[in-house]
Amino acid sequence: MVSPDIKKFDTLVVGGGIAGLQAALDLGDQGYTVAVVEKDASIGGKMIRLSKVFPTLDCASCITTPKMSAAAHHENITLFTYCDLVSLDTDESANGSGINCRIIQRPRYVDPVKCIGCRQCEYICPVHVPDMEQGGLSAKRAISIPFSNAIPQLPILDIEHCMLCGQCEKVCPTNAIDYFQQPEDMMLSANTAIVTTGFELLPVKTFVQYGNGSIPNVVDALQMERLLAPHGPYNRVIRPSDGMEPDSIAYVQCAGSRDKSHGVPYCSRVCCMYAIKQAMLLSGSLPLADITIYYMDIRAFGKGYEQFYQNAKAMGIEFVKAKVARIDQGDNGSATVRYERQDGSGTASQDHDLVVLSMGVVPGWNPEPICAVSKSTDHFITSIKPKISPVLTSINGVFVAGAAAGPKDIVDTITESGSAAMEAAKFMSNSPRGN
Ligand SMILES: Cc1cc2nc3c(=O)[nH]c(=O)nc-3n(C[C@H](O)[C@H](O)[C@H](O)COP(=O)(O)OP(=O)(O)OC[C@H]3O[C@@H](n4cnc5c(N)ncnc54)[C@H](O)[C@@H]3O)c2cc1C
Repeated sequence: MVSPDIKKFDTLVVGGGIAGLQAALDLGDQGYTVAVVEKDASIGGKMIRLSKVFPTLDCASCITTPKMSAAAHHENITLFTYCDLVSLDTDESANGSGINCRIIQRPRYVDPVKCIGCRQCEYICPVHVPDMEQGGLSAKRAISIPFSNAIPQLPILDIEHCMLCGQCEKVCPTNAIDYFQQPEDMMLSANTAIVTTGFELLPVKTFVQYGNGSIPNVVDALQMERLLAPHGPYNRVIRPSDGMEPDSIAYVQCAGSRDKSHGVPYCSRVCCMYAIKQAMLLSGSLPLADITIYYMDIRAFGKGYEQFYQNAKAMGIEFVKAKVARIDQGDNGSATVRYERQDGSGTASQDHDLVVLSMGVVPGWNPEPICAVSKSTDHFITSIKPKISPVLTSINGVFVAGAAAGPKDIVDTITESGSAAMEAAKFMSNSPRGN
């Protein structure tokens, strides 16, 4: 087999969420060449999938899209989307500056050079599949652009569900459909790397006490972000099971977090604030609905966050200090929340039309066995100098930023990305292989 040509960059950024994009832009603006490797079909990470962001309630897509677009059009940044990172080796003998990685471009079954993003293939496709970009709450066509402001604007053909009717191929004005496209092997090399692989939520299906994902109208917080988003699955907040406008909505905090039995003994940090944010947005879109947040403590740690919490209370959102023990299916599509009050006054239960689980935050990527970077006991990537240089990892020349290092909000993520870019630039200016 012929080995692929090596593409050379100053920095390799693994993960194209807001952390990776910010680090890439900070380095690209200084003249460094950056490769961003993203496993998803679009850059943007979780932030582009959010509705609005606390504490300012800015529209998430309005503030993320310009960053995505700036990275995509930057002369020093190259995006590798829909790619699997297969290996990442570091040659520490060259002052840690030799980073080689192998990635595999998964087939989209669409020629990226020929495709003009006109979506004719999507409009004509007769096959509907669950749209995971909308939390699985609605359907999309088997060939489709992932979401309206995805970058790049390239459709992906879901080959497992495609019935090979050939209609997309016939309608494509540029002959871009390629049913025989193969995975493409690529080798990248760089002087430094920044790991920005972010986070995932614990899957509801592993929680027997919450019904293992089988109770209708019990959703996780990212699904609720989609229900609240302007381009959401239904364009308004309704119950997934029957389309009813919910009159009573509950939030279950610390669902899996601060709970050793699920391997998440730590606080997931952002859940209090996003639950408060979502509750405020819900009371705007459903002014008559009762909204209850079952919580253990409220951790409003950032600038302006305590005021945000106080505003939510003033808006009439009910905060119940209680630990939710289990959720059962109720009558008429409702879910019964059974909880123990933290003031010692015993247990109680309440039916709600819709229940949102604030699931624990876990790492988005396990570096083993691809990269030997050290992890801490919480499985997030660890820093060798957590106090004074939180972005330094156990490998010289490899840095970490954003939620890959632990749960954090967007403000802290952006700050850390700037720091990682600065450390990478410093490293390259001191390194024999640097610019
Ligand atoms: C429900 C919810 C609501 C939130 N609301 C807010 C809010 O209102 N305000 C706020 O400040 N914060 C909010 N947050 C937190 C916010 O989402 C994070 O701060 C932010 O997304 C962190 O960005 P990131 O780039 O580090 O991680 P991510 O957004 O997770 O991005 C990581 C990227 O890396 C990619 N990736 C992962 N592994 C690999 C791999 N092996 N190879 C290539 N690519 C990979 C992923 O596909 C993803 O694109 C919320 C979080 C949740 C769960």
